[in-house]
Amino acid sequence: MEISCHTLIVGAGITGLTIARELIEEGVEDIVIIEKENSLGAHASGRNSGVLHAGIYYSPGTYKARFCVEGNRLMKEYCRENGLALKETGKVIVTDEIRQDVLFELKKRADQSGAESIIIDHKQLREIEPYAAPSEKALYSPNTAVINPMEILVSIKEELESTRKVRFMFGTSFSGLRDSSIAITNQGSIRFKKFINAAGSFADKIAHSFGVGSQYKVLPFKGTYKRLVKKRSYLVRGNIYPVPDLRNPFLGVHFTRGIDGYVYIGPTAIPAFGREEYGLLNDLSIESLSILGRDILLFFTNDGFRAAAVSETKKYLRKYLLSEAKKLLPEVKMDDIQDTPKVGIRPQLVDWNSKKLVMDFILLKDGDSLHILNAISPAFTCSMAFAKHVVKEF
Ligand SMILES: Cc1cc2nc3c(=O)[nH]c(=O)nc-3n(C[C@H](O)[C@H](O)[C@H](O)COP(=O)(O)OP(=O)(O)OC[C@H]3O[C@@H](n4cnc5c(N)ncnc54)[C@H](O)[C@@H]3O)c2cc1C
Repeated sequence: MEISCHTLIVGAGITGLTIARELIEEGVEDIVIIEKENSLGAHASGRNSGVLHAGIYYSPGTYKARFCVEGNRLMKEYCRENGLALKETGKVIVTDEIRQDVLFELKKRADQSGAESIIIDHKQLREIEPYAAPSEKALYSPNTAVINPMEILVSIKEELESTRKVRFMFGTSFSGLRDSSIAITNQGSIRFKKFINAAGSFADKIAHSFGVGSQYKVLPFKGTYKRLVKKRSYLVRGNIYPVPDLRNPFLGVHFTRGIDGYVYIGPTAIPAFGREEYGLLNDLSIESLSILGRDILLFFTNDGFRAAAVSETKKYLRKYLLSEAKKLLPEVKMDDIQDTPKVGIRPQLVDWNSKKLVMDFILLKDGDSLHILNAISPAFTCSMAFAKHVVKEF
């Protein structure tokens, strides 16, 4: 069987869905979205912290810095217009005196990106988060919010279907190209004029099959969460974060009051054994062994990676997690923390030439195909603004 369409999008995560929305705005009428899973949100878009970030962390000029503030605004507007869950909880970033310089660097970055943030003192911090670690200075972000990612995915899918300009094909996996305009899938071939690769953790492989981005490879990092027992969830009103290690793209273990009212601790960012390996060791494959090999190679050759891998792997240990958590919330005790099944995988891109973790999203255009790589956090937040940019570039 062969079908045809104007634009073929691979991946029905938030990136693929928001791009389809923008393509329709631009007058594209015939879009096919293929998704290898049988339902929405099986991977990062349905397994994240649900935080609408405010745009504080990112280096000036990066896609993250350019699209987070506007993405936050657009996503909030979308939730309000469609009656979807949105809690404008705000966030504080706390630190000890030693790392106060990082706090001021974050303030500078936030100002450069147009993100609202306020340096507050100990007394103001007490009013916002009474149980947060006493910090002489902290950074307050009033625009950080939480949403329900699955609800947003479902809503956008319904909106796209109602236009009758988008066909969804679930259980359909892209496996290669026949010539430059026919995609091969397990459900037959699809002839396209334009091709958008929004395949998350497999975006590098798909780009390679078009002959682009060969220096980039995904290294998966697992994010697990614990949570506070319900009776102790009063300890956190919104979000309490540490100052991050700016050399790596992870924000450090933090507390987030989710849309369900539970206070989550995490996510960790531990090198994982597979791109979709959500269990502990149940996906040992050739790929997992090669990932291990790569980890070790990077571990010994790159400072930033070593810092990330060592500090993040330690967070697997309950005791270590507790000691990190206590730095943000001194009253928290081992008994207050319970396990959750919540787990996600960050498909972190590595530039194999420089052996460095890639910090920003990557857009690779090659003729009629466009490849979105490294759509890592805060790509959910950025998605609606980033999609406008992607479609303009195409
Ligand atoms: C633990 C964790 C916490 C996070 N927290 C936040 C947060 O609080 N705020 C925030 O803004 N961001 C957060 N993120 C990041 C955010 O979730 C992702 O950046 C975003 O969801 C990426 O969306 P995507 O559509 O690009 O990828 P995905 O959601 O992974 O979607 C890609 C889709 O492509 C499909 N696919 C792959 N290969 C093929 C193929 N060959 N054929 C067909 N389909 C294919 C996959 O099945 C998948 O459904 C977090 C991520 C993780 C993992």
